[in-house]
Amino acid sequence: MKIQIVRDVLEANDQLADSIRGEAKKLGFTLINIMSSPGSGKTSLLESVIPELKKKGIRLAVIEGDITTTADAERIAILDIPVAQINTEPFGGDCHLGAEVIIPALQKFDLANLDLVFIENVGNLVCPAEFDTGADYNFVVISTTEGEDKPLKYPLMFRVCDTAIINKIDLLPYLDIDINKLKKNISQINPKINLMSCSAKTGENIPGIAQFIFNLVK
Ligand code: MG
Ligand code: ZN
Repeated sequence: MKIQIVRDVLEANDQLADSIRGEAKKLGFTLINIMSSPGSGKTSLLESVIPELKKKGIRLAVIEGDITTTADAERIAILDIPVAQINTEPFGGDCHLGAEVIIPALQKFDLANLDLVFIENVGNLVCPAEFDTGADYNFVVISTTEGEDKPLKYPLMFRVCDTAIINKIDLLPYLDIDINKLKKNISQINPKINLMSCSAKTGENIPGIAQFIFNLVK
């Protein structure tokens, strides 16, 4: 019985996710879901990439997912773009965002006048990968401080993502990590994944990532 319930939840989620993609196609905006473990630099990446995208004329907004706090949303709002906060604590403290919470968040925006909406998912390398948010593209951010083995230990996350961004490459001189081994492990799990690296802190490779995202926009 329990297995049946889980399947129903995921099926209902998938239907909502498909309806979000249909709406995004109709209204002409692109939805990108960014996932990672806590502290990999999702918010920092957004902070560095968003000004580049604005310079290119992209009209964008961000949905911030967190169990509690509006800390990340406040950092993004400084960039003078619309932000919708989802806190999961009032409905059970979910450690992921499902399509059912993305729909009301999207409704807070003037979608007909947006080109791109980012979702910053809850920091968690496990179950956000199981729930389709309705995004057109899924990104995973992994930082150099996490070691080489995470793609092998959390393969579903790397399987469901189109793009992996290795962040904090400015720290490489201080770490024992072999970045080529990390890249190899990511490619082993998902040979088709787009693989990029950057430092959101120093800005290294950020223009290239902004251009990559710009090319995804409908
Ligand atoms: Mg964050
Ligand atoms: Zn979860």
